[in-house]
Amino acid sequence: MLISRRQALLSGAALPLAAAAPSLVQAQAATASLPTHRDFTLGDFRVTTLLSGSRRVENPQGIFGMNVDADTFAAVSAENFIPTDAAQFFFTPTVLDTGSEVILFDTGNDAAGITAALAGAGYTTDQITHVVLTHMHGDHIGGLTDESGAETFANAAYVTGQVEYDHWAGAENEGFNAKVRPLAEKMSFLEDGDAVRGGVTAMAAFGHTPGHMGYMLESGGSQLFLMADTANHYVWSLAYPDWEVRFDMDKQSAAATRRRVMGMAAADRIPLIGYHMPFPGLGFIDTRADDTFHFVPHSYQLI
Ligand SMILES: [Zn+2]
Repeated sequence: MLISRRQALLSGAALPLAAAAPSLVQAQAATASLPTHRDFTLGDFRVTTLLSGSRRVENPQGIFGMNVDADTFAAVSAENFIPTDAAQFFFTPTVLDTGSEVILFDTGNDAAGITAALAGAGYTTDQITHVVLTHMHGDHIGGLTDESGAETFANAAYVTGQVEYDHWAGAENEGFNAKVRPLAEKMSFLEDGDAVRGGVTAMAAFGHTPGHMGYMLESGGSQLFLMADTANHYVWSLAYPDWEVRFDMDKQSAAATRRRVMGMAAADRIPLIGYHMPFPGLGFIDTRADDTFHFVPHSYQLI
């Protein structure tokens, strides 16, 4: 009797253990359960980050640590509690609601992803008054049109940097030709320091691409910098700005831009939103005594 009761208890205890064993289905479900929007308050502005997509990418050292040895890459990763065999990628456009305009910064990989994330945050695509493109890589321009070429944001004006537009317009680039060139008539162009509207100012952050721009948001005396792809990973490129990133077209100037932007954010205590930071993408920069940069994720400062 005693033995069979123990056996019953043991088999009963074994069931939840078996059910809790990790499986591929559960791993996928964990990714699918990521939230797709997060609101922040900046003065009179409502700033919402939108997760338009996320995926796992293998061999991250080949992307983020091209000029460091494997031991260094492994040691830094271990110190920061992240694996070296794969990285999770996040694609995070931002929508700024000023009360009179709804300005979308970048559009994700495809129309479906940005449309779904906007809907989750309570916006329809036809409410977007401006689409600002930080640069012309596919993961930022892909959502401008759907597969049939129809515009995703029917009522939007388009804004981008002059240097960036001119570079891609002069190259035979398939993505640019499919997504951006057809909208050129509706596009206006900014130089470093130009404003989209009051409190939304373009800042040159060249290097990742020839005319890559960040945007300083300012309302009620508070600032927030949309750094776009200035740093593509919160440890490997933000904390180690000189580590070469495969996607940076000019690696030296991308590194110099990272140092300048992180230095500004740290000195002025300005929060940053990074397009590829872990969702929801907002954080602060701490400089340690050894003069390295450290990403401090937002907790509740801008609620
Ligand atoms: Zn990107």
